[in-house]
Amino acid sequence: MRIKSKEYFKRALKSIPGGVNSPVRACKAVKADPIFFERGEGAYLIDVDGNRYIDYVCSWGPLILGHAHPEVIGSIYFASKKGTSFGAPTWQEVELAELIKNSIPSIEKIRLVNSGTEATMSAIRLARAYTGRKKIIKFEGCYHGHVDSLLVKAGSGLATFGIPATPGVPEELTSHTLNLPFNDFSAVEKAFLEYGKEIAAVIVEPIPGNMGVVLPENGFLEFLREITQKYKALLIFDEVITGFRIGPSGAQGKYGINPDLTCLGKIIGGGLPVGAYGGKEEIMNLVSPEGPVYQAGTLSGNPIAVAAGIATLKELLKPGTYERLEYISEKLEKGIREVLKELKLPYQINRAGSMLTLFFTKKEVKDFQSALTSDTEKFAIFWQKMLEEGIYLPPSQFEAWFVSLSHGEKEIEKTISAIYKVLKEMH
Ligand code: PMP
Repeated sequence: MRIKSKEYFKRALKSIPGGVNSPVRACKAVKADPIFFERGEGAYLIDVDGNRYIDYVCSWGPLILGHAHPEVIGSIYFASKKGTSFGAPTWQEVELAELIKNSIPSIEKIRLVNSGTEATMSAIRLARAYTGRKKIIKFEGCYHGHVDSLLVKAGSGLATFGIPATPGVPEELTSHTLNLPFNDFSAVEKAFLEYGKEIAAVIVEPIPGNMGVVLPENGFLEFLREITQKYKALLIFDEVITGFRIGPSGAQGKYGINPDLTCLGKIIGGGLPVGAYGGKEEIMNLVSPEGPVYQAGTLSGNPIAVAAGIATLKELLKPGTYERLEYISEKLEKGIREVLKELKLPYQINRAGSMLTLFFTKKEVKDFQSALTSDTEKFAIFWQKMLEEGIYLPPSQFEAWFVSLSHGEKEIEKTISAIYKVLKEMH
């Protein structure tokens, strides 16, 4: 029963557009009302009606340690006692910058901001300033925050530039953005052949999580590195999700690729609002006040947010954590595969470390078009039934499920049993 959630939602609709402060929370894609939460404990969320769920949203990625981790909460508490914001430097910002730099070698200098959106927006401005060029390549199904120039639909035909995906964005702002299919070598090659000298940067989620999890094909990221170098364009890895999730040096560490710029967010703020962009010193030195590219923030490097980020990274960088995450995530993947086999269901699972998506399609999912073959009606029923089993999944087919270090064998076993029960009922 979710009586109080329903009451709050009714009230919220009168004061907040759609009743939520970020669209996906509305649960429209799964034909449900949003659940209002009261608190989180490790792998669990507890709603305002007292229902308990195993959580695979984990605040959309930041909570890799689980909810209310004592080290993180303690750091927030001690930091907040010293004051909430100074609008002046603190030594903790230096510590967080150093922690990140030491973990991700391609980052020689880094600037903290307040969200992933700010990070990608600023990285693109910087790439344009550095190259003196205007055009950007992004990939269909990759999401880089609600930056005007990146909210594009593919234009018709390869040679056409993106058209705005939302009212309120003038065509002039998206007309420099090319939206290409992910994993499509020849589309990228053609774009560079035609516009090579005008392309400032390629921005990519190296392991996309925003169309559901999709893996880069063998050599695709290496190819992006080579072709951007050839045409003197920058390669921007948007590791807002994958940074510190795929491993201590993100997806770039896993694939051994050094992008020119990297965007971070989510985990580096430990559940508080933090983003960052960083990369080669020569490029970052263009950022104000060292250089002419303006970018600023009243609350950037906020001491409480930075404290949560430092505590999270310190826990994560202890020996054995990524091995444990891999072990438990692999157990979940294997369990789902066994269920699918037993029930003779052809659905697809894509997993990269502790991010995973079960796609309701029999087609291999390797780009946005193949992800779109998923049966979203079926996913909606699956989501609702899983909720009744006490499992809170991301309320959309096209999202990653996140496993945290507080998910144990017990939670994974319960999840797999629930998936078996629900899928059996549905088919
Ligand atoms: N980049 C990626 C890869 C993301 O997943 C997101 C958010 N989900 C963003 C950028 C934007 O981050 P934020 O919501 O913090 O603005």
